Parts: sequence; C-alpha cells; structure tokens
Amino acid sequence: MIIVLKAGAGDAEIEDVCRRIEALGLRAHVSRGEQRTVIGAIGDDRFKTRLQALEALECVESMVPILQPFKLASREVRATDTVVRIDGAAIGGGRIGVMAGPCSVESWDQLRTVAEDVKSAGAHLLRGGAFKPRTSPYAFQGLEEEGLRLLAQARKETGLPVITEVLEPDKVGVVAEYADVLQIGARNCQNFSLLKEVGQCGKPVLLKRGMATTIKEFLLSAEYVLAGGNPNVILCERGIRTFETTTRYTLDLNAVPVIKKLSHLPVVVDPSHGTGHWEYVAPMAKAGIACGADGLIIEVHHRPEEALSDGPQSLKPDKFAKLMRELRALATVLGRSL
Ligand code: PEP
Ligand code: MN
Repeated sequence: MIIVLKAGAGDAEIEDVCRRIEALGLRAHVSRGEQRTVIGAIGDDRFKTRLQALEALECVESMVPILQPFKLASREVRATDTVVRIDGAAIGGGRIGVMAGPCSVESWDQLRTVAEDVKSAGAHLLRGGAFKPRTSPYAFQGLEEEGLRLLAQARKETGLPVITEVLEPDKVGVVAEYADVLQIGARNCQNFSLLKEVGQCGKPVLLKRGMATTIKEFLLSAEYVLAGGNPNVILCERGIRTFETTTRYTLDLNAVPVIKKLSHLPVVVDPSHGTGHWEYVAPMAKAGIACGADGLIIEVHHRPEEALSDGPQSLKPDKFAKLMRELRALATVLGRSL
C-alpha cells in the first residue's frame, strides 16, 4: 500500500505514520518527493485492512494499493532512479558505469595484467570470478578464496572496486569481506535463500537475470534482496534462452526500457554472455547503452585462447580500449557521460 501524505506534512507526522506501519509488522519505506512525501507499507498482505485505518490520520491525503507484485523494486514506491554508490564509482544516475575483467581469476599475473589494461581504458570496476558456476563438474571451478585475495590485491594496486560472484548462502560473509559488489549469477537468480542472505550482506548486489526468467520474475528476485534490507541492487540483462543457436543466448534488450519503466533500479547489460562471441560484444554493448542501460559488464582477457573460462567471448585489451572510446562518443551524443 502507498500512503500519500498531504503537502506540508512534517517530520514528526512522517515518523508517526512509519511507527504505526511498523507496529503492524510491516516495513515503512519513505520517499520524499518535491511536492509530497509518500510512504510505502510493505509486507504481509493480510494486514491490509488494518492498514486502511491510517487513512483517518489528518496528515494522510490518500492510500493507493501497489499494483505490481514487486513492491520495493517498483516505480510506484519510488519514482526517482536509484543510484548505487560503490566506493569510488556509481551505477545509475546518468553516468555510464563499466565493469570489466576476466571471466575467472586464474593467477596473479593474469589478473594484474587485465586489471591494469581495463583501468587504463577507463573501466570503473574490475570483474573476476573466484567461485565459478560451471555447467560441467570437470570444468575449472575457480580459485575460490585465493581468487578473492587476488581480487583484493588488484583493488589495492589499481584502485578499482571489485565485483565477484557468490554461489552459496554460507559463502556470502567471506565474499562480502573482499568484494565491493556481490554478483548473483543467472543460475542463481531464483535461489531464494541466497537472495535473502545477500539482502543482509551490507554490500551492493548485481543480480543477473536467469536465462529462463521473465522480467516480472526477475524483479521479484530483486524484491527478495530489497525486502531483506539491502537497497543497493543493480539488475543485469545477460541474455535468455531462445530457439536461436548462433549466439550463446539472446540478449533481450527489450528488458532495458521495460525494466526502466517498471522499476527505479539501475540496469546494466552483459554483452559477453549475451552473445558468447567476442565479435558481437562491441555492437551489443553500444546497443545496450543506446537503449538506456546504466552500464555494462564485459569480459576481457589478454590471452583469450588460453582462458580457463569464456575465452571465445572475451575481448582483448586493445579491442576493449577501442570500444571504450566509441562508447564515450556515443555517450556524448546521448547527453550522458562515461
Ligand atoms: C559470469 O559473469 O562469468 C557468469 C557466470 O555469468 P552468468 O551468471 O550471467 O552466466
Ligand atoms: Mn563468464
């Protein structure tokens, strides 16, 4: 339910309404607009009738039900775009944020080389998987905690904040100790116990869309993280399964404007997994920005032919640097910056 307060409602009245909402076992989500303050009352639907009584308060103008099944993720509760701030970087709010690096952290030499290259090309965050979700149990599974330590070392040397994937609820604590942003991979988009756990990790979360997840299901997954108390969620379109097989997945760029309409959360595009082939990464990265994404996550490797995972879709550093130059020009045309 959204409670719209009368223009001029003061802090004491806002606090009073919040206290009453919380006394019903619901969460109060205050959104102060230029004209009016609205308060979202989020939680168990069974309390709706008791909530209705708040309409009698003098400071309340009206009460409107939240129509979407996702509440905190919805534009109905928050009209303005969320900007997720990460130590030294921000995703959302006009500037385009680029996360780049290898699919997997493989060694210190590999990570340092790629980190320096993406930093000098202008990337804002370093990506790299330490715990890898692999289709085959015989494929490289990641350096695990050693990979996290190498990421922390790369952050120290380059100053770039780092994003890495967490696969299991009981690893959220250790990943959050090292990472600036926790990635939830496509395969875990509907792993609800993991989503609840990262809702309490205190670090921003990049949530990837599942390969067979509808946009509404995707937003409900984000809702789990938000409802857990973590407001810093970045959504990532990374391609869905279709009948098409020439590309690894079908990058669903429709999702970008659709999500922008439905939600205030920032959206980034992953053209690496979305296409599966390095030749298609630059065109789809540019398309992602053109259709309104707040940023990109791109795989870069200095020797893709030797990569332990996702080499065929990894850009070499010179190609990544060229793409960044093109994106800068595109951003200017769009009245944005990178
Ligand atoms: C990755 O980012 O390397 C990854 C495994 O992504 P996804 O979950 O989108 O497949
Ligand atoms: Mn990958």
